[in-house]
Amino acid sequence: MAGASAISIHPSVDHGIMPAAKDFAGGTLVCKCAQSPVKVAVKSQSAYNHACGCTKCWKPAGALFAVVAVVPRDKLSVTENAAKLAIVDPNAAIGRYACKGCGVHMYGRIENAKHPFYGFDFIHTELSPEAGWSPPGFAAFVSSIIESGASPANQDAVRGRLRELGLEPYDCLSPPLMDAIATHIAKASGVLKA
Ligand SMILES: [Zn+2]
Ligand SMILES: [Zn+2]
Repeated sequence: MAGASAISIHPSVDHGIMPAAKDFAGGTLVCKCAQSPVKVAVKSQSAYNHACGCTKCWKPAGALFAVVAVVPRDKLSVTENAAKLAIVDPNAAIGRYACKGCGVHMYGRIENAKHPFYGFDFIHTELSPEAGWSPPGFAAFVSSIIESGASPANQDAVRGRLRELGLEPYDCLSPPLMDAIATHIAKASGVLKA
């Protein structure tokens, strides 16, 4: 088995994780098209940035994980070549807007106002040339990388590498986010008052 440090999690974390910049106020996400790239302006620092092993999030070629964060949806706008965007799976809770030219997901949006994460758009900060975004703080859906073809036998090494990077591995979302989802559901059902 390869050593933990030989495992590539994602290009933006493999050589160490850059800290957030103080008072960082956002940037522009640019797709990978050489001509007429889609551009998305984000007028906010990101939050809840994390490595994600699910099969739905966009990840660069060769990466085991995606790195994905959220921003308030009213802080995000498509500024160039919006016509190149299409939703990957219209039935998914998160409508992931991908570039039809290069396949990169530019942002994910939830239209169901009752969804626990309604109001947040999902973004990949690596698409922006600006440095200073909030860094990933944990790893979600780690077991799910197997569904994308990763070897089950390598999972101990992958979790070891994630811990080495300070990205605590979880097989769902992090405890605060799972608690937020459960709280939202409990309030909606009336089990939890106020
Ligand atoms: Zn593109
Ligand atoms: Zn994901």
